[in-house]
Amino acid sequence: MCEINSNYLKLPGSYLFAGIKRRVDAYRAAHPDAKIISLGIGDVTRPLVPAVIEAMHAAVDEMADASTFRGYGPEQGYDFLIDAIIRGEYTARGIEIDRDEVFVSDGSKCDVGNIQEIFSADARVAIGDPVYPVYLDSNVMAGRTGEFGPDGRFAGITYLAGTEENGFSPEPPKERVDLVYLCSPNNPTGTVLDRAALTRWVEYAREKEAVILFDSAYSAYIREPGLPGSIYEIPGAKEVAIEFKSFSKSAGFTGVRCGFTVVPKALRRRDNSGKMQSVNALWLRRQCTKFNGVCYIVQRAAEAVYSLAGMKQSREVIDYYMGNAELIRSGLIGAGFEVFGGKNAPYIWWKLPAGLESTQFADKLLNVCQVVGTPGVGFGPGGEGWFRLTAFGDRAETAEAVERICRASLI
Ligand SMILES: *Cc1c(COP(=O)(O)O)cnc(C)c1O
Repeated sequence: MCEINSNYLKLPGSYLFAGIKRRVDAYRAAHPDAKIISLGIGDVTRPLVPAVIEAMHAAVDEMADASTFRGYGPEQGYDFLIDAIIRGEYTARGIEIDRDEVFVSDGSKCDVGNIQEIFSADARVAIGDPVYPVYLDSNVMAGRTGEFGPDGRFAGITYLAGTEENGFSPEPPKERVDLVYLCSPNNPTGTVLDRAALTRWVEYAREKEAVILFDSAYSAYIREPGLPGSIYEIPGAKEVAIEFKSFSKSAGFTGVRCGFTVVPKALRRRDNSGKMQSVNALWLRRQCTKFNGVCYIVQRAAEAVYSLAGMKQSREVIDYYMGNAELIRSGLIGAGFEVFGGKNAPYIWWKLPAGLESTQFADKLLNVCQVVGTPGVGFGPGGEGWFRLTAFGDRAETAEAVERICRASLI
């Protein structure tokens, strides 16, 4: 008899997001003339930039000719893209990364979900709260947790609370953990771990022989000078950290699919006999067995993001979204609300008045303003009492949504 992996049954399911959609659909059916504006989307809306489109067209033509056609490529990505990534992301930040430390993939979600496979099944895991749910769920599936409790937490996980008091920058725990997931700029709080905070994490990981899994999918949105856009800006990080980046939010690739993961060769950890092993070699082995590379056309498209025209055009798109973020941020502050984020990330983290639950508030915002957002509790128990708005919408619609919120009496 084949038994299923019962760890999957521990997951409470995405009832929250399904519930939001159901209520929005019901509202739309009852009010067919209402103009509903969504500030809930975690997806880009602007088209691919011209430099990327040109590169894609050229690559499509190469595939039509026997002399330039490509079949299977290297599992870890073509050198032309790896070199562009190193130049655009690392040399530009004064960081030295070798070609065989970069692993091109079809997006960061797969990588941040899969990376736990190469670590011990009994590794102790620390995860931000609130944060992108993939880190937690992939560890639940792998059996690294106990059951989901009535407090909204899984037993066996160390939750790193990001609160208003700590500036959404959790400190390393007292206890020893083995794997630490950090997301900066953070989804959903829109806040960034500064150099001092990241240095404390790197020092903690060095001392405890932990590994930091650093998701910086939104680093292209960082505006304030001095904030780290890569964990490798911190001395000693190459011995303790794996970094994930994606073209999804930086260049509109959510539907095209491309990202990359950096696993430094200096990162070594013990096996069950105490012998040091290369984490880079394990990830290479894993990818070569379970992954077969990213589409050639897509890799040419990603390469074009780092061309002069590509960088300029991508910057303009990010500026557009960040203009939306500023509209939301300043609008809500002007209306007397307390908000965080929105300065170095496309997310605005809205503090709800005490006692108001984030799912109740979602209904109120829909009913009173016809605006959709995301209840904070969807990102972990620490998100209760908070609400996420995103800057990925259309400018005029975003402005109208902010106006409606400012005019309404929501509280
Ligand atoms: C959007 C996002 C990603 C990127 O996912 P892709 O699979 O590359 O599209 C990764 N991490 C976070 C926190 C995100 O919000």
